[in-house]
Amino acid sequence: MANKDYYSVLGVDKNASDDEIKSAYRRLAKKYHPDLNKTPEAQEKFKDINEAYEVLGDPKKRANYDQFGSADGNPFGAGGAQSGGGFGDFFGGGFSDIFSDIFSAFGGRSDARVSEKGQDINIAVTLSFEEACFGVEKNITVSKLEKCSSCSGTGAKNGKEFTVCPECNGTGRVRYQQNTLFGTTIREAGCPKCNATGKIIKEKCSDCNGKGYQKVNKTIKVKFPAGLDNGHTLRIQNEGNAPTRANGINGDLNIKISVAPHKILVRNGNDLTMDLYVPFTKTLLGGKVDIPTLKGNYALNIPELTPSGTVMRIKGKGVKSVNSSAVGDLLVTIKAEVPKSLDKDTKAKIEALAEQIGDGSYTKYNNFLRNMKD
Ligand SMILES: [Zn+2]
Ligand SMILES: [Zn+2]
Repeated sequence: MANKDYYSVLGVDKNASDDEIKSAYRRLAKKYHPDLNKTPEAQEKFKDINEAYEVLGDPKKRANYDQFGSADGNPFGAGGAQSGGGFGDFFGGGFSDIFSDIFSAFGGRSDARVSEKGQDINIAVTLSFEEACFGVEKNITVSKLEKCSSCSGTGAKNGKEFTVCPECNGTGRVRYQQNTLFGTTIREAGCPKCNATGKIIKEKCSDCNGKGYQKVNKTIKVKFPAGLDNGHTLRIQNEGNAPTRANGINGDLNIKISVAPHKILVRNGNDLTMDLYVPFTKTLLGGKVDIPTLKGNYALNIPELTPSGTVMRIKGKGVKSVNSSAVGDLLVTIKAEVPKSLDKDTKAKIEALAEQIGDGSYTKYNNFLRNMKD
């Protein structure tokens, strides 16, 4: 996500104002919304547009993006453990992009960035409805590559039995000139002598067979914040795989959240909704009905003469936002239910009742009748 030009995705200038960005986004989102635009590329475009606006529409993310080329201010999108370190300085900012461009232009492979960061691990976790709303701490076991503790990730016996690779001076990378049709370019690639590890192992660590990392099952205590919802992804920085080359940083652990449904309540963002079917007589006469909330039952008072379809809003009985302290509401749609059957006697009574009330008592019904006549 870090290397797309979000400005050109939205077709705006780098100095565009917030309003210009917003209106460009609106225009494009409308143009490529998959419901409105059935061309095959619309879906991908729509995704790109949203991704770009997520960053450029947020002043803080935009500033980070302008400065670092990514929304969270870190060119690796990770913990930033390497800032100030050798490769962090060299490959941070825009340099890596320039290199990638050069490499891809000539079919070279730029693995300079990925090699030092371990692979991300992607898993899915299902939370109960309440766990998602209130947050929860859980132990999650993942199978991952960890730095070998016996050799501190060096791959050499006791962590000592190696020398710095003379070919690349321990960087694991070599640069060389290449003459092409377009002139001379500098290419960079993994050092062939040390297999891009930066070191020559004299005696291998027997625990990891010289690899410097091992596959382990690790149990991680994960704090799921309150307000998570279906489709959210929780990223735990640094808990992904160890890098397979020395001196790198771990990948991230991405946890895709799914939430088990509630028997009655339905999430809609931070709001909760429910349909409440009550006897039609209760919508006429009014009455109390106990409904569920996240914290115990709530006695909902249905007023007299409540039309079916009325939405009653109970403030603050929704879900806490995952991003802020805002709390949603509980929206109850009242629906009048009619009995399954009527016996003769009851039917006669209701007919008498209907006559007593009289059709003239119904404003909307009478409007309808009038409109039909016109
Ligand atoms: Zn080397
Ligand atoms: Zn080892």
